[in-house]
Amino acid sequence: MHALTLGVAADGLAGELAAHGVAVVHQVHHDLLADYGPEAWGESVAQAVRVLLPGSVLACGTDRGNEVMAQAAARLDVPFVANVMSVTAADVWDVTRVRWGGSLLETCTLTADVKLLTVSHHAFEAAESPVAGTTATLSVDLDPALARTIVAERVERAAGVTLATAPLVVGGGRAVGSAEAFAPLEELAALLGGVVGCSRAVTNNGWRNHTDQVGQTGTRIAPDLYMACGISGAIQHWVGAMASKKILAINTDPEANMVAKADYAVIGDLHKVVPAITAEIRRRRG
Ligand SMILES: Cc1cc2nc3c(=O)[nH]c(=O)nc-3n(C[C@H](O)[C@H](O)[C@H](O)COP(=O)(O)OP(=O)(O)OC[C@H]3O[C@@H](n4cnc5c(N)ncnc54)[C@H](O)[C@@H]3O)c2cc1C
Repeated sequence: MHALTLGVAADGLAGELAAHGVAVVHQVHHDLLADYGPEAWGESVAQAVRVLLPGSVLACGTDRGNEVMAQAAARLDVPFVANVMSVTAADVWDVTRVRWGGSLLETCTLTADVKLLTVSHHAFEAAESPVAGTTATLSVDLDPALARTIVAERVERAAGVTLATAPLVVGGGRAVGSAEAFAPLEELAALLGGVVGCSRAVTNNGWRNHTDQVGQTGTRIAPDLYMACGISGAIQHWVGAMASKKILAINTDPEANMVAKADYAVIGDLHKVVPAITAEIRRRRG
């Protein structure tokens, strides 16, 4: 297994890649790769494939991973399968991939000489398998015209845990009722070292910023515990929450989809249940 890193900033990944079984890291350095640009990155992957002749090329099924691999596939004129969950590799590959934000699983057969895939979010755990890895420099020839899409502005994220990486998320839905009514959820999240997330009903109402939205058109979360308060569990929300290790639903409706899918549920009014949980934690902590 070899890896390709693009840009000087990625050179530091070599050690971690060797710890996960990568024998050779091919490092590509070029002025056009100093920042993200899908055309230059995709062309670099395509050139690397022509030189290194791999049997398959895998990347993360993030927006960026899918964009770069789509660019590479178009330049190589080969098919590309995005968001793969499982592969059975024989002469032809049988591949299952996630579509429509997780509401459809598609199986397909991949027969190309070089197989381009991205791996669906949270589909696999990264396994440690240390090897004595080496690095090599790979030259690419990039036309300045490839700098068609460039990073024009960078906005600093607030420091601290993010929704995508938080070990605990307290999510609020339409039933929270207003921006101000999120205060008890904020208090509980802070007490447990977590962050607050929300459904699209909340962002549509302007109660919270879109950066807090969990779901298909928001952030995909994978905390140890997701406390979903007054959230019905619509499929578009669920696909963003389903990688949570445990889910606690707080809902007045015992038939709500989120209650059916949760590991634990409290059937009750979130405006009473959330402050009661906070009070009990404070009491136990003395
Ligand atoms: C293309 C598309 C993309 C979308 N993307 C997303 C997305 O990324 N994220 C997302 O969240 N949604 C998304 N949606 C919207 C999604 O379909 C739902 O409309 C939305 O998730 C509903 O939000 P909700 O659960 O907060 O509200 P509701 O569905 O109205 O549910 C409110 C819940 O609160 C419960 N409740 C009521 N009162 C109380 C109370 N006092 N205490 C406790 N529980 C109470 C109710 O029983 C109900 O289950 C998308 C929709 C489309 C069409």
